Amino acid sequence: MTSTPDAALSRRALLVDLSRAGCAALMLSAPHATRAVDQSAAARAQPDTETLHILRSRIELQFAPGFSKPAQQAARTWAITSADAVARYFGRFPVPKVELLLVPEEGSGVRSGVTYAEPSLLMRIRLGRETTEAQFIDDWVLVHEMVHLAIPRIPRAQNWLHEGIATYVESVARGRVGLVSAETVWREWATAMPQGQPQAGDAGLDHTPTWGRTYWGGAMFCLLADVELLKRSALRTGLQQALQGVLAAGGQYGVPWTVERILATGDAAVGQTVLTELYERMKASAEPIDLAGLWRELGTTGGTLNDQAPLANVRRAILA
Ligand SMILES: [Zn+2]
Repeated sequence: MTSTPDAALSRRALLVDLSRAGCAALMLSAPHATRAVDQSAAARAQPDTETLHILRSRIELQFAPGFSKPAQQAARTWAITSADAVARYFGRFPVPKVELLLVPEEGSGVRSGVTYAEPSLLMRIRLGRETTEAQFIDDWVLVHEMVHLAIPRIPRAQNWLHEGIATYVESVARGRVGLVSAETVWREWATAMPQGQPQAGDAGLDHTPTWGRTYWGGAMFCLLADVELLKRSALRTGLQQALQGVLAAGGQYGVPWTVERILATGDAAVGQTVLTELYERMKASAEPIDLAGLWRELGTTGGTLNDQAPLANVRRAILA
């Protein structure tokens, strides 16, 4: 990111930074030893731990030493709010138990997140000690990491599906509970999603592990799938119900599945073949997506939401 983002784009600009060192949920073959070899003083000291109950799930919230009590209280509220948004989207929190380790840093803001599957499910977030309430409300990082928990681990070459779902569902889940407005989500997608288009030398989603194709190519796949699922089902079932079907079949971050199995399971849950068809179309193809045409049909062009657009009902089904 070389230009200075304006306020409306700050969340997405942050994603650019984080994607390099931040969300590393899919570093499956990378050394998980990161957990064990962190020799900082904060890591050696005992964290302050408490249990959050989210429906039937437990989040073991751990504060590494260095947070004030008011900061812990604000972070606790943020963790519950984020987990609630994710649980509402999936119908439940994705896993029965997960650890959430918050590591303090100087200054303010949610800095980065990483999710590990082994030896047990753990999300580690680097968090500024002076993070404000407004920054917590505006944060997408924790919801993004929690969405990863709902998807089985997949081969690293296909990270685009994991990151795409986390990127797309984060916005939908936060939009559904009012943490971000629908106008803002559609405006951010219109700005950010073109980064997912194939560039020169592209060989399709499965064979082009660039940042843009991984995060926004994956998110574009999710949006196209959501629109098509909703159209074919007369708005009854979309990506949300397909992903709930994956969870119901036992798919979550604690287990490894193939991409084909995830997509077929999601399709079967809603009686469709959309996900598998779209994957066949996009996995090895550099064909660009007509995003401008899609925005016109959905009625999101120009920063305002148009209820007269042909697919306005689909847009509202995704995010009012
Ligand atoms: Zn991620």
